[in-house]
Amino acid sequence: MPNDLDISRAAKMQPIAAVAQAAGIPDNALELYGRYKAKVDPALVPSREELGKVVLVTAMSPTPAGEGKSTVTVGLGDALARAGRKTVIALREPSLGPVLGMKGGATGGGYSQVVPMEEINLHFTGDFHAITSANNALAALVDNHIFQGNALHIDPRRITFKRVLDMNDRALRNIVIGLGGPTQGTPREDGFDITVASEVMAIFCLATGIEDLTSRLAQITVGYTYDRKPVTVADLGVQGALALLLKDALKPNLVQTIAGTPALVHGGPFANIAHGCNSVIATGLARELADVVVTEAGFGADLGAEKYMDITSRVADVAPDAVVVVATVRALKMHGGVPRDRLDEPNPAGLEAGTANLRRHVRNIARFGLTPVVAVNRFTTDTPEELDWLLSWCSEEGVEAAVADVWAEGGGGPGGDDLAAKVLEALRKPSAFAPLYPLQMSIEEKIRTVVQDIYGADDVEFSVPALRRLEEIKANGWEHFPVCMAKTQYSFSDDATKLGAPIGFTVHVRDLVPKTGAGFIVALTGAVMTMPGLPKSPAALRMGVAPDGTPSGLF
Ligand code: ADP
Repeated sequence: MPNDLDISRAAKMQPIAAVAQAAGIPDNALELYGRYKAKVDPALVPSREELGKVVLVTAMSPTPAGEGKSTVTVGLGDALARAGRKTVIALREPSLGPVLGMKGGATGGGYSQVVPMEEINLHFTGDFHAITSANNALAALVDNHIFQGNALHIDPRRITFKRVLDMNDRALRNIVIGLGGPTQGTPREDGFDITVASEVMAIFCLATGIEDLTSRLAQITVGYTYDRKPVTVADLGVQGALALLLKDALKPNLVQTIAGTPALVHGGPFANIAHGCNSVIATGLARELADVVVTEAGFGADLGAEKYMDITSRVADVAPDAVVVVATVRALKMHGGVPRDRLDEPNPAGLEAGTANLRRHVRNIARFGLTPVVAVNRFTTDTPEELDWLLSWCSEEGVEAAVADVWAEGGGGPGGDDLAAKVLEALRKPSAFAPLYPLQMSIEEKIRTVVQDIYGADDVEFSVPALRRLEEIKANGWEHFPVCMAKTQYSFSDDATKLGAPIGFTVHVRDLVPKTGAGFIVALTGAVMTMPGLPKSPAALRMGVAPDGTPSGLF
């Protein structure tokens, strides 16, 4: 089978204006970015009375390569379109960190991709540039405020707002700025996060429009005064400038799948250190256009899906009507203790042991009042016996399941038909969606609820700095926010090596970061970093570009 890049380049794309027209997007709402990409102004798309239903695609705890959520999201979208349903897909934009690092892009795989994959995976329509610029403009304005006399009495040692860059660059995690004497600013410790972990990215994805964007930006806490009072963007008075830098980026990007299904690819917070789903503006627009919207929440259901339910679904009308949990035979074997280099070989005992991980995720979805459908993302190394065994395990567990052969066949072919049928069946059932916890709970109790009910932990332990932060959160009146857990994606626990469905563990919260503009409190657990590093053999080593501009090495 050709690689993802070659498949994408061979795809016969329709002009994006034709895709838009078929999707019901009026011509005046379309802003072309070349022939195959466009931005859509949601204000110019007529509203409908009945909005499309939302299918959320999530997964069991992944292997480092990913379990194929984007692939299944695209394949399922195509399969629903093939079944005659008006469908729009809503996905996140890829970050250059993983593209050049280890995991690769985020456009799906095989014959279930959004295209043009190289453009989407590289600079696309410049949204991440706009978000990075808005973020760094604010950082510069804070330091300039201090340099110009510091009327707000900002304590340079207590600035919490960081600079960002869309790259994995561990060398920038902790830096000192303002060196060089009195004309160069005030020396202070600072650091960079990756753009996709930034509060501006979270705000971009949670804002329901320009006004909401501006008001959320105004509420960002940048740091504290010498007497420990929070300082906000509104105090600095620069929310207007920041919103201005984001105004065009805020319009969702329209592309298509290889099979021609419309896809809105917009915003891209990571799910392990941020809230993990595309912009609510894009999902809302997709609901205006289609009968069924297929969207994805990052990493495993303990991370992306929990945050989709407890954060995203509270700020906009995007709560899921059905949930798909992607599982693979390989990941099940890994969670069943099979070594990484032997995942391609049959191992019935390992497969069975690994189901403990899937079972916990499936049961967790039920806690939100939703009945999941398991999608078994088929790899060519899976044997018919393994797939049959897995389907009968699901049926014994009382959960609907289907094999999705959308990577090899393409979602436009029959490989996604079974899954689409099961999802349509699930959509016919009434959903009783409710978030996991009420907002009136204290931050400490919200975190305890997530770690006990979703992760299966005995309890949570707060470090001394985290306990101090809890006090500050109370004193500043921020207890009503939901929590955004920052945790490894590989395990239910905060220890990436604890696979399967661990029990008898404690989750360690080392710090809490109030994101008062995004409207959540980030709880940093274990060793998870808001600025990742590159691996020993980054994907960048295998990339290149031919004299005619043909790229290689993207995946
Ligand atoms: P996720 O969204 O869960 O991170 P992706 O859909 O991005 O996962 O897929 C990760 C990688 O795995 C991609 O390179 C994709 O081509 C590959 N992949 C996904 N599904 C399959 C499959 N069924 N067989 C082989 N490779 C696959």
